[in-house]
Amino acid sequence: MFEKMDQNDLEDYAEQIITGSEVSDENIRAMLQISDPDDMEKLHYVARHIRDNFFGNKVFMYSFVYFSTHCKNNCAFCYYNRENDIERYRLTLEDIKKICQVLKTEEIHMVDLTMGEDPYFHNNPERLAELVRTVKEEVGKPIMISPGVVDNETLMLLKENGANFLALYQETYDKELFGKLRVEQSFEERINSRNHAKRIGYLVEDGILTAVEPDIESTLISLRGLGTSNPDMVRVMTFLPQKGTPLEGKDVEGSEAELRMISILRLMYPNLLIPASLDLEGIDGMVHRLNSGANVVTSIISSNSALEGVVNYDREHAERDRDVKSVIYRLKTMGMEPAKQSDFEKLLGQ
Ligand code: SF4
Repeated sequence: MFEKMDQNDLEDYAEQIITGSEVSDENIRAMLQISDPDDMEKLHYVARHIRDNFFGNKVFMYSFVYFSTHCKNNCAFCYYNRENDIERYRLTLEDIKKICQVLKTEEIHMVDLTMGEDPYFHNNPERLAELVRTVKEEVGKPIMISPGVVDNETLMLLKENGANFLALYQETYDKELFGKLRVEQSFEERINSRNHAKRIGYLVEDGILTAVEPDIESTLISLRGLGTSNPDMVRVMTFLPQKGTPLEGKDVEGSEAELRMISILRLMYPNLLIPASLDLEGIDGMVHRLNSGANVVTSIISSNSALEGVVNYDREHAERDRDVKSVIYRLKTMGMEPAKQSDFEKLLGQ
């Protein structure tokens, strides 16, 4: 759809979106099929133009603490699924406090506390609440929690103890595919939990995987589905087959599919937060994702941290350059810079 468009046409198209025009299903299908590098760059250009309109050259940065890799679930795409015979850890409150000493010196906007659905916390929500409260008191920054599906009382308890943002990814809005990915889990329960969080005052993040079985209609359903819980942040993550999982050995596209979809998300959800994760390809991948229209850097880990990333892309090198100083240095070479903390807190309504 971009082949005949010059720079002025692309900017006009971006302006239409900025002023409220919605992207049609037909155009989304066309964008999902772009393979020509020039057309892809045009898509990214439109996405950046829209992003810059809403956020300028300012970027938000989230620090990532994966505090338990235990999980009771059996997601087919996840390295940490319960069937995978791997070493796991669960941080103690003392470990967390040590991490907080570093986090509070770092220039980050929010701390993302992530875990698998670890029964140690799921069956004792007050342990989770204590952890959230400790990080809030020690670091004094907004907190995102990624605890999986928890009940409404737990969501309220965590909010009362300092949680601001809930990340809960649907992975796909194609129900059949959901059943294959989030094995034995409820599609509706996940949606209900996210909706409930939104109702009680959380900001919410939803996310989808790039197609495990590339299918335009299924991807379109997921891209549209992301809008249904009125999220504040939307994410797309590259599906990467993980060792020891049922999907190990599956052929998949490279990160191009994610870059294409980040731009499409920016066109569909112009003023939402869209992350550039360091998880998959480190700091070079962050640059590509920001150049595709993202405006948040996620999965920043403290330089002295030995914690896990989510995707477990490259166990030896994935943590390289994922610290906040490296991120800021690279942002500046791109003409971008960290936003003020007060701008982030305005988004949170604080
Ligand atoms: S995606 Fe989350 S819930 Fe599913 S197995 Fe992995 S850690 Fe557990």
